[in-house]
Amino acid sequence: MASLQQTSVPMSYSRSCQSQVLVLNCGSSSLKFAVMNPHNGDIALSGIGEALGEGKPVVRWKVDGDRHSETLPADTRHTEVIRFLVNEILGDRPQLRDHLIAIGHRVVHGGEKFSHSVLIDNAVISAIEECVALAPLHNPAHLAGIEAARDAFPKLPQVAVFDTAFHQSMPKQAYIYALPYSLYRDHGIRRYGMHGTSHRFVTERAAALLNLSLDEVNIISAHLGNGASITAVHNGRSIDTSMGLTPLEGLVMGTRSGDVDPGLLMHLGSHMDYGLKEINDLLNRESGLLGISELSNDCRALEKAASDGHDGAQLALDIFCYRLAKYIGAYHAVLPQVDALVFTGGIGENSNLIRQKVMTQLRGIGYAVDEEKNTRARFGEEGPISTEQSAVTLVIPTNEEWVIARDAAELVPPNTPNHDPSTRE
Ligand code: ADP
Repeated sequence: MASLQQTSVPMSYSRSCQSQVLVLNCGSSSLKFAVMNPHNGDIALSGIGEALGEGKPVVRWKVDGDRHSETLPADTRHTEVIRFLVNEILGDRPQLRDHLIAIGHRVVHGGEKFSHSVLIDNAVISAIEECVALAPLHNPAHLAGIEAARDAFPKLPQVAVFDTAFHQSMPKQAYIYALPYSLYRDHGIRRYGMHGTSHRFVTERAAALLNLSLDEVNIISAHLGNGASITAVHNGRSIDTSMGLTPLEGLVMGTRSGDVDPGLLMHLGSHMDYGLKEINDLLNRESGLLGISELSNDCRALEKAASDGHDGAQLALDIFCYRLAKYIGAYHAVLPQVDALVFTGGIGENSNLIRQKVMTQLRGIGYAVDEEKNTRARFGEEGPISTEQSAVTLVIPTNEEWVIARDAAELVPPNTPNHDPSTRE
């Protein structure tokens, strides 16, 4: 069993410097932004533009410890939020704006083209466009954000960091569906996986905590938020993950069903008059914790309701944990050894109840929760929650923005304005 070591920052990023990276995460109706020091993950500014294209867009941001918000015109989209960020928020903060060395973009789908982060050029933009069919809500928003950021900061390098990239190491036996092979060959239909940036971050942190090198660490990483996925990591590389062609496959999620019998779709269509849109809404928006509980998609609300005796909330939590435990068991079967099970994401980092239920379910394969450590492990702390003698289980808060900022800083060409050579370790 690997020994546990306490460290807080990946070694190659411990040096401090003034360089900052603007991290952009463009969703279908939102744009999250952060100005971050890529060396230590310190956040100088963070914010979100919400309800874009939905009537009453608002931008909220936090800087110097103060919170601000402003309502923007109804037709505000990603481009206008980036302009607002540049002109109004960064406009009178040269100490941030002038230290920007790069812009890092989260991109949900890179298909099979990207196994690493890349500097964005026209060929990369075309490749992201080619993946629109695989992520119709996300990739168009990323493209809009990239275009607006290029206009606003024409001299700064832009870097794309793909959710799918970490899973490009999966072998064919994990990513090919048992469908006619031509669907893969001719149409790219296969399992891609998502949340790769988060799984990659916790893999690196787990290696540091376990005092193992990255290329020898074996973990099962459970990212549990509104979206949830689990990944088997062998020698630091993803070898299987629960999300597939789309983020619908796998675990029970807030409003997504995760795995169902595909025969369900024919049944809904043939016997219950469901059309494609209704099936899509059913599986993506009306299922999961919300669908089972008939109450909420929010784990916190369900825990409270269950403790007050709400049967639906209890059933939703039971099914969530049961499905998760089955995946963990399956990933024990595909990994030659497991150095640690890692919980991350809003639920994984904060819900001692979910962690305890899952580990109790897994007692037959050596898991046992240390009640005191599990209760204490909340609110951004990382560390073990298992007893000394049992299978190592860690809580590791994820930090996808930091990975994006680090990758962007590492890819900055040496002749870039504001470029600080100490960013290239
Ligand atoms: P997203 O996938 O949207 O990024 P998050 O990672 O923020 O989601 O996770 C949101 C989930 O985390 C919600 O279900 C929320 O109820 C849950 N959560 C946050 N804090 C707690 C807590 N203290 N106890 C239980 N669940 C929590």
